[in-house]
Amino acid sequence: MNPTQPVIAVVGGGISGVILTIALTRRGLNVQLYEQAAKFGEIGAGVAFGPNAVRAMGVCSPDVTRAFETVVTRNQSPEKQQVWFDFCDGFSDYPVGEEKVLFTLANEMGVMSVHRANFLDAMVKLVPDGITQFNKRLESIEEPDSLNDKVKIKFQDGTEALADAVIGCDGIKSRTRAWMLGQNHPGAKPVYTHKYAYRGLIPMEKAIEALGEQNAKNAKMHLGRDGHFLTFPVQGGKTMNVVAFRTKSDPWPDQSRMTKPSTKEAAFADFKDFGPTVQKIIELLEPNLDIWGIFDTGDHPMAAYNKGRVCVVGDAAHATSPHHGAGAGICIEDSAVLAELLASPEIRAAGMRGFEAAFQIFSDCRKERTQWLVQSSRRSGDLYEWRAKGVEDDFEKIGAECKERCEKIWDGQIEDMCHDALSCVATALQR
Ligand code: FAD
Repeated sequence: MNPTQPVIAVVGGGISGVILTIALTRRGLNVQLYEQAAKFGEIGAGVAFGPNAVRAMGVCSPDVTRAFETVVTRNQSPEKQQVWFDFCDGFSDYPVGEEKVLFTLANEMGVMSVHRANFLDAMVKLVPDGITQFNKRLESIEEPDSLNDKVKIKFQDGTEALADAVIGCDGIKSRTRAWMLGQNHPGAKPVYTHKYAYRGLIPMEKAIEALGEQNAKNAKMHLGRDGHFLTFPVQGGKTMNVVAFRTKSDPWPDQSRMTKPSTKEAAFADFKDFGPTVQKIIELLEPNLDIWGIFDTGDHPMAAYNKGRVCVVGDAAHATSPHHGAGAGICIEDSAVLAELLASPEIRAAGMRGFEAAFQIFSDCRKERTQWLVQSSRRSGDLYEWRAKGVEDDFEKIGAECKERCEKIWDGQIEDMCHDALSCVATALQR
């Protein structure tokens, strides 16, 4: 760390915080990373990326792309390499593994999935030694009185740290967001979307035996009334990842916890109207399962992602439901744009004013796309579950609308996003 250079505190070591830290340090900026947990960690579930995310990784650092390539799993069949998902009617009575594909969404790279923990491990190796502090749970932030002073960060353990700028990457329950908006602001907390998901991992040999090779080894989504059920390969094709969504009007029991224990029996009851393939997949799951409540920030989107020399990135700024499989990818886009801004020579030369300007530009440039994603993801969840008014179970309409929405995400060109942001620097610095 160069002691003469300003210090950027990144709070939260998830996908956003770790990749942003890599992007900033690769550009020669000083970063201190604070994580509330005792070590970096992710759950053992799958996460899928589209082409926009992979392009953004490359801008963060080519090392990120290289590390991603060591853990990525694509559809296993050669003819499915460009397929995102094959969609079928989950309520149909076709025998196991024989259901008809209604429509396919595809892009130039297909679906690229990783086991979350493996992905984070690969990224963490790229974080320079000595800049991460664990067991540091952000409690509050104190803004400086003048541009010459530092921002004070207060942690739950009673310690404090000073930084020239603070970037909250502290996820859907972000303390940074709550501090920016005020604890009692409705946007300070995420909202339950009345969807929840069972998640499971099935060894690939068992999945192939039950479903056949094509179905087990390639991404597939079963659409149904008030539920949808998807599978895709992870861990180099050794494991089949399962995510099964259900919509119910009941409230989520405990707003402070996003998961709750459940069972395979409950999954059978929730998906009883689905056909033989879905029943077979549930049979293969473990007897005890966790249910994930699906929350987002869609009811109260932030008016700005910045406040002075503090900024929020990733889920902290715009947590989305996962129906586009794009939340993490958009976090990586955020990291690329913000790193390019903070590394720009004009921003660096402007010192503390540079941070304020960069965060303002980041907010202005990222709000539209990221907040559109949150709403579009909600809409997609409803399309998959025949809940979209005027569309219902018209598969042709579902397919056409999903295609248009997905292409808006996948076609996102990170170079253009960075270029647009950088073109605002001169004006922002004159304000
Ligand atoms: P997080 O992953 O939540 O990381 C936040 C980090 O900050 C954590 O390490 C946490 O410990 C730390 N932290 C929190 N509070 C504090 C504090 N006060 N002080 C210090 N540290 C703190 N996206 C996709 O692109 N594709 C998918 O297929 C996909 N599937 C999904 C499936 C489900 C069921 C869900 C719920 C989400 C899915 N997403 C997917 C979305 C994706 O998981 C998130 O967008 C992404 O993980 C957000 O990363 P993040 O780093 O911003 O936040």
